Parts: sequence; C-alpha cells; structure tokens
Amino acid sequence: MQKINFNAGPAQLPPEVLHEAAQSVKQYKKTGMSVLELPHRGKEFLEILEESKTLVKKLCGIGHEYEVLWLQGGGRMQFCMIPMNFLLAGKNAGYIDSGHWSHEAAEYAMYYGNAQILASSQDSNYSRLPDWPQIPSDLAYLHVTTNNTICGTQWHSIPKTEVPLIADMSSDIFSAKTDYSRYPVFYAAVQKNLGAAGLALVVIRKDMLGKTPVILPPMLSYSMQAHENSILNTANVFGVYVSLLMLRWIDARGIDAIEKENIRKAALLYETIDNSTSFKAHVTEKAHRSLMNVCFTAVTTEVEQSFLAMCEKNNITGVKGHRSVGGLRVSLYNAVTYGQVEELVDLMKSV
Ligand code: PMP
Repeated sequence: MQKINFNAGPAQLPPEVLHEAAQSVKQYKKTGMSVLELPHRGKEFLEILEESKTLVKKLCGIGHEYEVLWLQGGGRMQFCMIPMNFLLAGKNAGYIDSGHWSHEAAEYAMYYGNAQILASSQDSNYSRLPDWPQIPSDLAYLHVTTNNTICGTQWHSIPKTEVPLIADMSSDIFSAKTDYSRYPVFYAAVQKNLGAAGLALVVIRKDMLGKTPVILPPMLSYSMQAHENSILNTANVFGVYVSLLMLRWIDARGIDAIEKENIRKAALLYETIDNSTSFKAHVTEKAHRSLMNVCFTAVTTEVEQSFLAMCEKNNITGVKGHRSVGGLRVSLYNAVTYGQVEELVDLMKSV
C-alpha cells in the first residue's frame, strides 16, 4: 500500500508520473527498449531533452536568452560550480545565509575564492529570515536560497539588487508564480518538485556563459556543458525523463492552480499548529514561513513519540525533522494533496 509521504526529498511524486515512469522502464514508447537502455545521443533521448528544455522555459516565462542544463551531482555540485564559474580572481561573492543549505553553499564557495556572508539568521537557529543587508555594488554575484528546506523559512519576495542574483530554488521551484527573469542563474536539485535525486536543473542567461573561465575541466564548466547540450558525458537519461514527466504534470495543472493549492495546504497545517496545545511552530514570524516545509515541535518528547507512532500506524511517513535540528517537519511539495494534509491534521488534533 502506497504511504502518504511527507519527506523533504526524495519526496512524493504524483501517481500518474510513477505509473508512466514504471511503464517506460518496461518499454519506452514502441522502441523495444526500456527507457533505462536508451542511448544518450539517440533520437528518443534528444527529443526528451528538447521537450524538457522547452517546458522549463515556458514554465519560467523565459526565452532564447537562457540555456537550460541538466547536470549530475545534485544541489551540492552547483555549490561548487557557481564559484568555479563566476567567482573570478580579485572578485567577491555575497551569500545570504538563511539556512543550512545557504550556509553550506557559502562554505563551498570559500574553498574556491572570496565569498562573504552578508547577512545571517544562524543566531536564531534559522527560525527567521535575516534582515536584507546593504549589497556591495561590485560583487561578482549574490547567492540566495529561496526556500530553506530544513528550518522552514522562505523568501516570498526578494529585494531588487544591481548585482547578478543567483538562486538555489531546490525546494520551491515551480511551486508558485515568480519572476524568473530576475535571475541570470538559478538552479534546483530535482528530488523535491521536479523528479528523481541526483540531477540539478540549471538555468543560465547566455551572457553569463561568456564570463566563465576557459581553464575549467569541461565537466565543471557551464559554457562547455551548454555547448555539449548537457550530454558531455553519458547523461542521466532516466533522471531527465522523470523530470520531463514532472514538467508535463506541472504544465497540465498550471502554476496558478498549483500555487493556490500550496497556499491552501500550508494554511491548513499552520492553522492547526497555531491552534494546538500539543505543537509549536518553529517559525513564529508568519511572513517568513515556508509553504513547502513546515517545521514544528511537540510540547514534550512523549507527545512527539506518540504522534510519530500514530503516523506510522496510519500509513504516514516522513514527518520527523532533519537530523540536524530534530522536531517535526512536513513537506508540502506540489504532489502532496490537500486531502493528505487533512488526514495529517486530523491525527494532530487527536494527539
Ligand atoms: N539546496 C537545498 C535548498 C536543499 O534542500 C538541498 C537538499 N536537498 C540541497 C541544496 C542539496 O541537494 P543535494 O542533496 O542534491 O546535494
């Protein structure tokens, strides 16, 4: 029996997507081959790649001025590639430290060059967003994490800046309307709203490609990856295919409808927590709360234990908080339904 899966990633995927992926593992279209066996330079995969790129641009409302890449190594590989490609000698990069992953992104950049944390909410255990700092106008780029998966905060709007804005959108891409054209570079590890773990979607404005140094090994160079259409080495054929199925699913629903549903789901859960005597929200500042990852604690360890046992008994999984912070976390990515959240809140009310 399929569980209700509230994990933060790898996360729940829509049943239709799982069904089609499973069929294609048996046989892809009428090729007589599994999708797992498709050659990465063959006609079928090139079609998958092209359609995925077209859909990403459509969903982002961007055009030919951008390149769409599917790169291996997940989110953390992008923590490496961004400074390697854009933090050139003599330049500084700025990082907004609003959570575990933004901190790690900054640390990775520090291995490579001069990266500075310009604002941080680490002292509040990331239970709020930091105040937006003054941004030096000569930065190579400013890096921001739009949704903080582990502590449950989200930037619902980001102030204008003059320097190139690079965003990690791993846990909220395609969850709500946003102006993607503000970002010359944005990326997302795909295992939340966009597919199977191991890949990252990277979207880069073409003028940024010209800034990358020529001395990088090709695998780590955005301009080489763009030049080779993300198939510089053997591509993750299955990963890109599952992401395409997710993109089709998102496109069929439309971002407007997805956003409305995500607001409804999060409102129901936060309201239940705020009105409860058993649970407390980690993020008290309502404007900073994430629609994707809802973090909270039980008032006592006994309440936490009995709630987790009830979840287990009722076929609900993935509600334990990240190992670094503890407590509870419920992830409400696009594939999670309102009905599933209702089932969860009914349990919470009965603790
Ligand atoms: N950024 C964010 C916002 C994340 O939530 C995560 C974790 N999935 C990562 C980066 C790191 O991704 P990966 O585990 O694929 O390296």
